[in-house]
Amino acid sequence: MLGKMMNKPLLISELICHADRYHGATEIISVETSGLTEISSWHEVAIRARKLGSAIDNLGLNFGDRCGTLAWNNRRHLEIYFGVSSQGFVCHTLNPRLHHDQMRYIINDAQDKMLFFDRTFLPALAQLRDQLETVEYYVLMGPPDADAAGQFDGLLFYEQLIDTGKEKSDWPEFDEHHPSSLCYTSGTTGHPKGVLYTHRTTLLHTLGGNQPDGMALSAKDTVLPVVPMFHVNAWGVPYIAASVGAKLVLPGPKLDGQSLVSLIDDHDVSIALGVPTIWMGLLQALESSGSQANSLQRTVVGGSALPPSMIPTFRDKYGVELIHAWGMTETSPLGSLNQLLQKHQKLDADTQASIRLGQGRPPFGVELRIVDSEGHNLPQDGQTQGSLQIRGYWIVDTYMGKNTSALTTDGWFDTGDIATIDTDGYVIIRDRSKDIIKSGGEWISTVDLENIAIGHPAIANAAVIAANHPKWGERPVLIAIKSNTISEPDLLAFFAGKVPKWQIPDKVIFVEDLPLGATGKVLKVKLRAQYGNILLG
Ligand code: ADP
Repeated sequence: MLGKMMNKPLLISELICHADRYHGATEIISVETSGLTEISSWHEVAIRARKLGSAIDNLGLNFGDRCGTLAWNNRRHLEIYFGVSSQGFVCHTLNPRLHHDQMRYIINDAQDKMLFFDRTFLPALAQLRDQLETVEYYVLMGPPDADAAGQFDGLLFYEQLIDTGKEKSDWPEFDEHHPSSLCYTSGTTGHPKGVLYTHRTTLLHTLGGNQPDGMALSAKDTVLPVVPMFHVNAWGVPYIAASVGAKLVLPGPKLDGQSLVSLIDDHDVSIALGVPTIWMGLLQALESSGSQANSLQRTVVGGSALPPSMIPTFRDKYGVELIHAWGMTETSPLGSLNQLLQKHQKLDADTQASIRLGQGRPPFGVELRIVDSEGHNLPQDGQTQGSLQIRGYWIVDTYMGKNTSALTTDGWFDTGDIATIDTDGYVIIRDRSKDIIKSGGEWISTVDLENIAIGHPAIANAAVIAANHPKWGERPVLIAIKSNTISEPDLLAFFAGKVPKWQIPDKVIFVEDLPLGATGKVLKVKLRAQYGNILLG
């Protein structure tokens, strides 16, 4: 016998309907590509998303067709998120920072039928369009623009397109396993691969990731997602914000520290989310502008390891709580978030900060384990390092276009990260398995060495790579950008007492720049190609 309760599929349309019904008047602030700020609302987003969905239908796209976006965080992008998916099409967010070759590969691989884009990307697309095999419609996200039309044959304009759609049509109901959106891995460690989220996984991620010890957004919040909407669905923030009716401040293209300080102060932002490099820029701008960011209560930081000084700086200077989170494209992305437990409440601030420096614990909905190279479970004692694996309601099974599952034979996804997990379930990412240094049978964490180097006042940024070594197999080499004068011996002396002697890098190379990938992470593959044999003589 089955239970006798309603059977309502978990669909993205329910999120935007809820936001409209119960939080319709709540504002959506949007900085446009032109630099102007526009004010919309959940009601307006809902209406325009409906018109968009119906307009795409009228163009003759088929259920499940992919609609790409090349866009900043703005209100039209938000409408596309909801309008495209709710109508049964797939919202494919493209990372505009990718090289043209990769962009072409991804658009063709995804077989995008339509491309929505901000004005910024018109020149790039004008160059690329001849090589895009499946795109039938190009839509500029704005009102008609004669200059743009002159540069691009057959260009459609968003404002004209949505006027062809019906405002009052109901969203269709379909299977919750239908795909809703598509993101490609950023390719830091290999070729980009498509992860095809479903309505069900997105809704469960929305509910599971926003518990009180998770993201904890509410209708009282004004949320600034600095994390781009093209980076794993802005960590799910657009969906979570709709589910609770939070006010959104969408920052557009300018993400420098000063622009963010102005947005926080002008709109009383209470929570902001982004990668560590963004917050480094913000902290500098707060310092120089004298702003206290009075409205800001919390920041969620993830995407790469957190510099240790960031928690006390936010806490002591600005009274802001920093929540460290870990995840990846394949995990929708939330895999763990760092909040304290009851037993930690009476600890002093520095001990609390040291716990919060790690990547935290999984929310309900996902499970984490560490295994050895044969796939055997390792103890979760906070000491033993192993390959971090995950399973749960919003984790990839099979990459788009592939026939074989990406999972282990017992159903877990291997993240490619090396981690420890302690008895309370707190995870610390020690390294990526491709980056960790194997020196004479022992492992050395590149993240630990980088954190020490970045902690030196004369170092602006640093990366550590495994360089081939005739005796030890691999040894650490530090590649650093100076912000002040410092010599190699002085920098190496700074490691003494902070790590065991045998972990201190063999060599320092000072550079002007580090190669960055499309999501702002250092491309160690490139550094290894360049410096990997430097110790071989
Ligand atoms: P890519 O794997 O191509 O870089 P993702 O954006 O999916 O693309 O990155 C996921 C990876 O980023 C994780 O596997 C992990 O190595 C790293 N990462 C994410 N968040 C953190 C964090 N808070 N601390 C350390 N590393 C992180």
